[in-house]
Amino acid sequence: MLNVEILGGVGEYGRNCFYVETEGRAILLDCGVMNNHEKTSPDLTEAHVAKLDAVFISHSHIDHVGALPLLEQWGYNGQLFMSKMTAQQLKHTYENITIFQPESMGNWLTISDNLSFQWGFSGHVIGSVWYKIRFLEEVIFFSGDYVVDSYLLKATLPTEDDRGYDLAFIDSGHIEKRIKNVEVLQQITKFINAKQNCPIIFPSSFSGKTADIATYLFQHTARELIVDNELLAFFEDYVEAPENLMSSTFNTVLTALKSNHLQDKTEGDNAIYFVPEHDESTISKLLSEFPTAIVIFTGYCKNGSNLKHVVQNRAKQFFYKTHPDYHDIIELSQKINAQKIIYFHSQLTTKETTLLKIIGNEDDIYDEPC
Ligand SMILES: [Zn+2]
Ligand SMILES: [Zn+2]
Repeated sequence: MLNVEILGGVGEYGRNCFYVETEGRAILLDCGVMNNHEKTSPDLTEAHVAKLDAVFISHSHIDHVGALPLLEQWGYNGQLFMSKMTAQQLKHTYENITIFQPESMGNWLTISDNLSFQWGFSGHVIGSVWYKIRFLEEVIFFSGDYVVDSYLLKATLPTEDDRGYDLAFIDSGHIEKRIKNVEVLQQITKFINAKQNCPIIFPSSFSGKTADIATYLFQHTARELIVDNELLAFFEDYVEAPENLMSSTFNTVLTALKSNHLQDKTEGDNAIYFVPEHDESTISKLLSEFPTAIVIFTGYCKNGSNLKHVVQNRAKQFFYKTHPDYHDIIELSQKINAQKIIYFHSQLTTKETTLLKIIGNEDDIYDEPC
């Protein structure tokens, strides 16, 4: 029998951390903090940490790894599993990180007689993965943050076998949306192409979305693309992990993007700028330098962000998925078909939410028409 403790991330957006115990042994799935000013920790205690056999990390965003220092503080010295790219993206390193190699994707990796796992790509950011875990008699699926239709990143699922799943954790981050990412890319391109004399500014996050949009625009507009150095450094990971990509053309895109530097620019009529969303001063500077510039938002504004105020009425919104939407969640649930599913990463789903409940609440969940 599995004992599951949600230490954060269900019924809220952030601090994803799930503790699963059976027969006195335990594992932890992600260890994140809230993405707020206080960086609120999950409800993890020293007693939880003492029982852990292994910790599985899905990707490097702080709502999945921000509480790793707590493990260190409480003396956890077991293995900390993650992909090579995730390890590379962490702000701090930990002695007990165990990375798995690309060649091992989809194979059973044995930790002990009681514990083994498979991993595969989840399409959310370079290096992000899902896990299928065999823990004593139980089989568990953890989606991590998942994007079914990234333009650049592969997303896979475990191969089916007769055993099925006892428990699954499925990302429900965009349950209130119905979006096809490729259509959003087309809409953004059409908008930009119609605004020839307006520089475009994308406040950008370190997620798959930014590389998807930059690559698509590189291929579908004639505009100059200027990407901030911090973001370019993140794009380097894409070149290092070609097995994670849908196509092998990213190398060419990155080389071209690297030849344009934000810092060197003094004037430009209609370039497309990718600036980290936390860098409000550069965004303000570009807006005052170019009176016709337009800011394009592609997701929710972070809690406490001042950006909406900075850009005022010079913004346009296109929503690009970085999590599964309503239809993706139904499809993932049906494919995984676990005895019990816990939907995480949304204020709209709780520990009690079932697939039937999601389907029944269709009208309540949507925040906008199709
Ligand atoms: Zn994430
Ligand atoms: Zn997340």
